[in-house]
Amino acid sequence: MVKEAKITPHGMQVGNLELIWAVNSKDFFFSNSLFIDDTEAMVVDPSANFSYLEHLASSKRVSQVLNTHFHIDHRSLNHLFKDARFLCHKKDLRALLSLDNYLKLAGKEKNNEYVLWLQKIFSALNLGQAHVDETLLDQQTLPLKDSEVRVVHLPGHTPGHIGLHFMDLDLLFVSDVDLTPLGPWYAGTTSNIDQFLASLQKIKTFHCRYYASSHGSRLYEPETFFEKLQRFEDAFRIRDEKLLEALQESPKSLEELAQIGIIYRKVWLKKDPLKQSFEKQMLEKHLQRLEKAGQVHWEEGQWNKA
Ligand SMILES: [Zn+2]
Repeated sequence: MVKEAKITPHGMQVGNLELIWAVNSKDFFFSNSLFIDDTEAMVVDPSANFSYLEHLASSKRVSQVLNTHFHIDHRSLNHLFKDARFLCHKKDLRALLSLDNYLKLAGKEKNNEYVLWLQKIFSALNLGQAHVDETLLDQQTLPLKDSEVRVVHLPGHTPGHIGLHFMDLDLLFVSDVDLTPLGPWYAGTTSNIDQFLASLQKIKTFHCRYYASSHGSRLYEPETFFEKLQRFEDAFRIRDEKLLEALQESPKSLEELAQIGIIYRKVWLKKDPLKQSFEKQMLEKHLQRLEKAGQVHWEEGQWNKA
């Protein structure tokens, strides 16, 4: 039987699942959270809404917390759930356990803007010592009592990035395949374009009644979801094309390419060093991939179109 979706004061309810929309979705540390109202109740990615998550934590009903991946905007309120068991995918375990490991993945250049930003955030948030009680693998069923939810490994954004398939509800949660207009994010040393693209193909094999992601306050119907997913996927090709166009004009260094506004808008890049750092890291991944395909080559500090 199809479960109908209802609006709640904090988001949407489908069966025993509440999608809690991020209170300030423009802000970087916040992402949507999920509350699975099970005998072994679980919160996924506690970071959407401080007062509501604090209320859930103080009710002492939540015995488990799952993080879909190690990024800070998906676990900024983990610490509210003091007695819970923590779960994550095996491949994101190390980065989740320590800030040092997280920082090592933030870029090849020491003290780049991403590293500096993370250090600032972590000291401001006072997250305390992280621990993980159980690691997960693809297709594994979550340790719930009354609901069947399976792990869908969707690497690329991070190596251990997962979605969740709510079998009873016919709903797929795709986490940071977030379908935002900006498009996919894959800065950091362990993000990978080919894995990301393969994960998008994997998502296309799920034919569900409902879809949701970690950013944007909406539950998708299949038609809109697949339209948005296609646009999200197209972003990879469009970024390639813009790079090749820029190199057609003249050879350029990575620094020069990163100022054009290929991923982030040029005005944002000018005033935000963090976005500059993301832009550079993501463009470098495109260039390395295009180099493998024989479409560009690197010579004397500049990228050239082949
Ligand atoms: Zn993320």
